[in-house]
Amino acid sequence: MTLQLLKKLTESFGPSGFEDETRKIVQEELEPLCDKVWVNTLGSVVGLKKGKGKDKDRKKIMIAGHIDEIGFIVSHVDEKTGFLRFVTVGGFDPKTLVCQQVMVLGKGKHKLPGLLSIAGKPIHMQTPEETKKGLALTDFYIDLGLSGKEAAKKVEVGDPVVWLRELTEMGDLVNCKAMDDRVGVYVMIEALRKTKGNTHDIYAVGTTQEEVGLRGATTSSYEIQPDVGIALDITLAMDIPGSEPHAQVQKNSAPA
Ligand SMILES: [Zn+2]
Repeated sequence: MTLQLLKKLTESFGPSGFEDETRKIVQEELEPLCDKVWVNTLGSVVGLKKGKGKDKDRKKIMIAGHIDEIGFIVSHVDEKTGFLRFVTVGGFDPKTLVCQQVMVLGKGKHKLPGLLSIAGKPIHMQTPEETKKGLALTDFYIDLGLSGKEAAKKVEVGDPVVWLRELTEMGDLVNCKAMDDRVGVYVMIEALRKTKGNTHDIYAVGTTQEEVGLRGATTSSYEIQPDVGIALDITLAMDIPGSEPHAQVQKNSAPA
């Protein structure tokens, strides 16, 4: 199995509402596999692979995976220090953000690498009480390594941000940002690649803005009016230390 496509999909820049880069990859993959490919009003990309059945017998099967990912939006650029403040797009646990590398899509669509840092004193300067304090999303800022003047020239309020991560193979697993739901989109494309001689019409849809309310999936469903809908998305495996066996949905060991 080639992971080249999964790598391209997961590493691409596509927070909700800014899915252009990911959409382009999906569109290019769907073109040779489908009879028709189009982008609808809310930015979802649809590939139709017509069925071989008679017109009156053919059903519409919609397979959907969302192309957007969680991320951030710049809410303030400090013109003195160059540090950025942000709000989140989708849900985040603050514990997972400490010292993460990010990518800001600045003015003119220029990509700028940055680091999520915590406002306040470093740990060796904190009182014991201060070290017990939990983290809030508002404690973080993005350091671009730029002066205030340079940051203000390159970034403005409203610019989107995602994690910066390369796909890494670790044993039997892979690690990257945006597995939710680029792995679903990957499965959709690979399944379509293997589909030969389908009786019914298949609509493969890369949907937008799932993380902020399933918007692209909703509007695409109204457009296509499918008889059958299959949504591909991730879940929590719960196969890690601290998880209860009854909550486990995925066994850690591969089937024999
Ligand atoms: Zn998802």
